[in-house]
Amino acid sequence: MKMLWKSALPIVLEVLLPSRCALCGDAVEPTRSLSLCHACRRDLRPIEPPRCPTCGRPLAVPDLTETDAGLPCGPCRLAPPHLDHTLGLLYFEGAARETIHRLKYQGHWQLGRALVQWCHSRLVCLQGAYDLVAPVPLDRRRLRQRGFNQSAVIGREVASILGLPLVLNGLIRIRGGQPQVGLKGTARQRNVRGCFAVQHHERLVSSRVLLVDDVLTTGATANECARILKAAGAEEVGLVTVAAAYASL
Ligand SMILES: [Zn+2]
Ligand SMILES: [Zn+2]
Repeated sequence: MKMLWKSALPIVLEVLLPSRCALCGDAVEPTRSLSLCHACRRDLRPIEPPRCPTCGRPLAVPDLTETDAGLPCGPCRLAPPHLDHTLGLLYFEGAARETIHRLKYQGHWQLGRALVQWCHSRLVCLQGAYDLVAPVPLDRRRLRQRGFNQSAVIGREVASILGLPLVLNGLIRIRGGQPQVGLKGTARQRNVRGCFAVQHHERLVSSRVLLVDDVLTTGATANECARILKAAGAEEVGLVTVAAAYASL
């Protein structure tokens, strides 16, 4: 009797509490790990190659020769950033934007983690390329307001997929700076200068660090983190973000 009840429980729950899409509320199959309906999942648009390996920017067809040779894009060759590699997984639009918004401002951790799991097959290309995962830290004031760092939630999931340690206290934010929203490229770079520091250098010396953030806009914040990490002895610094605000091609 106990066994019968156990196997019938999911069906009973599904009738009483049908699974709903976490974004639009439509019914979804109860087994889906990412509780988004078909329409919302179709709205998640991956950033496909060809991309610049350094800044992750998608390249137009005339730029193909650059990627064929595995070379960075023109701007990255002219002014190489501190970041060695960048991988943005989804365009920051539609369901991806909404999911990140729910994670960040409404604390829907499960939804954020599920979004990373949905990108699983795109993350495995990073296997073996890094030694540890470090989330981009949030400033103290915002951490107090929000109660958590969304990049750490995403970083935990990325680290588990790649089988890497998650180092939460290696890179820290020592200064808030103004919000980056509304600032242009060079102003963003100036705004984040001196905002980060490294503690526990011994964990970073000669290591290949994979930074994790929720959204990539200009890359100024992650690039400043890479500068600090390299000054502290990191051998290589890459960045993966769930979404990137690149203009669509
Ligand atoms: Zn939906
Ligand atoms: Zn580039």
